[in-house]
Amino acid sequence: MSSRTISTEAVPSSVLHASLSIEPPKIVRAEGHYLYTFTGTAIYDASDGAAVSCIGHNHPRVRRAMSQQLDAVEYCFAPHFTTPVYEKLAKFLVDSTNGQLPKVFVTGSGSETVEATIKMARQYCVEKGEPERKRFIARERSYHGNTMGALDVSGHKARRAIYEPLLSGSTSHVSPCYPYRDLRAGESTPAYVERLAQELEDEFQRLGPRTVCGVVFETMAGLTLGAVAPVPGYLARMKEVCERHGALFILDEVFAGMGRMGTLHAWEQEGVVPDLQTVAKGLGGGYMPIGALMVGEKVVYVLDRGSKAFMHFQTYHGHPVACAAAYEVQQVIRDEGLVENCRKMGEYLGERLRARLGAHPNVGDIRGRGLAWAIELVKDRQTKEPFPVKQKVAPTIHAAGLQKFEIALLPGGGVVDGANGDLIVLAPAYDINHEEVDLVVQRASKAIEYVLGPATSTAKL
Ligand code: PMP
Repeated sequence: MSSRTISTEAVPSSVLHASLSIEPPKIVRAEGHYLYTFTGTAIYDASDGAAVSCIGHNHPRVRRAMSQQLDAVEYCFAPHFTTPVYEKLAKFLVDSTNGQLPKVFVTGSGSETVEATIKMARQYCVEKGEPERKRFIARERSYHGNTMGALDVSGHKARRAIYEPLLSGSTSHVSPCYPYRDLRAGESTPAYVERLAQELEDEFQRLGPRTVCGVVFETMAGLTLGAVAPVPGYLARMKEVCERHGALFILDEVFAGMGRMGTLHAWEQEGVVPDLQTVAKGLGGGYMPIGALMVGEKVVYVLDRGSKAFMHFQTYHGHPVACAAAYEVQQVIRDEGLVENCRKMGEYLGERLRARLGAHPNVGDIRGRGLAWAIELVKDRQTKEPFPVKQKVAPTIHAAGLQKFEIALLPGGGVVDGANGDLIVLAPAYDINHEEVDLVVQRASKAIEYVLGPATSTAKL
């Protein structure tokens, strides 16, 4: 592996980049688990972009399915028409829940799906005869997307900050389930769950329980808190509180869903079926922009007796080529047993990360499930004090990964909020093998040590 710096072309870019750390390398080819720059550097895609490219790049089956769909119908306006491929994808998703979420609305992204979900929840309340329900409860430091409605429910202070005056204020936020920082000394997991349930109950009481339309949680807190899976019993208790007050229980599985956590839907592991669910990233694996809102029986029942239609559409919803790509991605996942591989390789990845980085003085926590893992980096391991945000620890590690060690990592945490440590999130493809896990751990560790020093010494920064 060379350690040459990735250069970018001398031509000035007309793209308005959203990246915060370095000028993004120009990718001219993507194959399997690698991204190739125009200078020929092969970068290992250890985070699937942002937990997206779950079956790797350039899969021939998906290419073929997309091409066939282009030959058949490339586009028609979904409110006026349907297509066999939209029907097929929707049926696949419904069947994957054993019919417990019997209807599906396909969108173009995670944020759009969250937007649709919020509107669906509100429509349900109005058609049920409870128009006074117009509030949502979500969690602090959550991420549900960057469009205005999705940002409205997000508890991500830094992303909200400058847009705050434009947000509706209809969402309030409770504590996330985040044992690394929030579990008190001597507190048992059930007692922690009870404390969080009481906080949710108190929030319902503060708002007036009959004003709440729904509760929106990420099943796994993905990019903002860093791969924090729910503790046992947490989701069930949250849903109980929600149901007691007649609010919808909404799970955002844009990050955690479609196999990433080791079951197709992350909620399966807790046996807690949401009333509304979002999926996106792992649905289409990055071949086309796509997301889906999955609608539970309770909501379908009310709609069937009311307007019978969703009061929402977009020009590109249910896009045939996106549906074809997603359907084939899901067939590949099923045929190749990739959800099972997520579980197996996830355990191995966790083991290797702990063995390699567990003793590092700046590694506060290593956590994850399936193929979603995060390393929380702190200034002081004992006190868990984060690095100052301005030190940009995670972005610097991200840059080092790209420029020195040929690995694409996902930075997060302190860099955006300051309320927790810096995060390096790993979300490799579902078909990763042992050798590649070793490579990911080796390169990610080198990038971390390049910035923070090796496990045996104190921090360099
Ligand atoms: N919800 C969650 C839980 C997410 O992780 C994300 C993306 N990181 C979104 C919503 C927004 O998805 P998108 O970026 O596709 O709009």
